[in-house]
Amino acid sequence: MATYRRGQSGGRRILIVSYHRVVGDFTGELQRSIPGLLISQETFRRHLEEAASAGYAFATLGEAVDVMNGAKVAKQDLCVVTFDDGYRDVYRYAYPILKQMGVPAIVYLPTDFIGTNRRFNHDRLFHLVNRAKQRRLKPYFSTLTGPALELMVPIMSGRKTASAALDDFIGEHSAGALVEVIGALEQELGGGPELLPEQGDIMGWDEVRRMAQDGFEFGAHTLGHTVLTLEPREVVEREILESKLAIEREVPIQVKDFAYCNGWYSDEIISVLKQHGFRSGVTTEDLLNRIGGDPFTLKRKVLWENFSIGMLGDYSPALTGCQFDDCFGLLGMSHPVPGRRAHLSRPVGGNHLSVVLDLSTREAT
Ligand SMILES: [Zn+2]
Repeated sequence: MATYRRGQSGGRRILIVSYHRVVGDFTGELQRSIPGLLISQETFRRHLEEAASAGYAFATLGEAVDVMNGAKVAKQDLCVVTFDDGYRDVYRYAYPILKQMGVPAIVYLPTDFIGTNRRFNHDRLFHLVNRAKQRRLKPYFSTLTGPALELMVPIMSGRKTASAALDDFIGEHSAGALVEVIGALEQELGGGPELLPEQGDIMGWDEVRRMAQDGFEFGAHTLGHTVLTLEPREVVEREILESKLAIEREVPIQVKDFAYCNGWYSDEIISVLKQHGFRSGVTTEDLLNRIGGDPFTLKRKVLWENFSIGMLGDYSPALTGCQFDDCFGLLGMSHPVPGRRAHLSRPVGGNHLSVVLDLSTREAT
């Protein structure tokens, strides 16, 4: 399969993998966080070992782009490790392993969140839903209306798990609606500091600087984790340029790489990136990168813990190997979600302006 894929890629395979949170206590974290964003430190380490034994050499994103555009020739297949969103877990649990194994990586930062106590909307909602479940909230007898009711009824009636309901809900509602539902649930649950999740905290600039000193790369991921295909040109310009400048102000590096929020991109967005000196943009399209391919639509494989859990419920090296060799893609068993969108088109299902989630777990279904 590797040989076949190499032929399709035009020489060497360039595999870009994407993670969100790497955690110390996966079983514990699973009780309180969105599963599709999690991987345990141990499984993460095994992924790196598996990629190496499948013949991949770890490369920086810059090296991979150089190989794609023909400036360099790779002697081996390349694997690039990426992290989206700047979760502090990456600093705590992935960074030491990467450093120990000498594996480079790039972290994409939504800069308005860095160095703050803010949490992403999807993490806040998941936490609130869990609180509501613990308190056995009866949505029909509460003050909840509209979208909040739409989210809670399938969960409280047991028709959907919290993460499935949230995944569907976030795919269909604007960022504004999410904020509204957060407010409604907080009010219903009586307010209080325990309604903001402790987990899901974001790196501070000192942590970013420490990683940068060790040679790790950082890319921009907008200011406020904004889905740019849903925004007018002036917002796109601001989110791209100011997130780049924010990183460059704090860290002595030049930012040239970008990750599209939700994995969604358009020609307009790519032209703004080029205009501001970027060299690449990563998507969440689970497809092959080809030598000579467009560096502004880099394909990535989004991974989490369960991608390596076999039928017996424990870690499966064979399954991980299959993921790295893309057996499921080759067999037509996984269906990549295209990231290219018509600019300013609205997602299906209503008056939606923005979606704040990188959950690409649905790609596996
Ligand atoms: Zn993201």
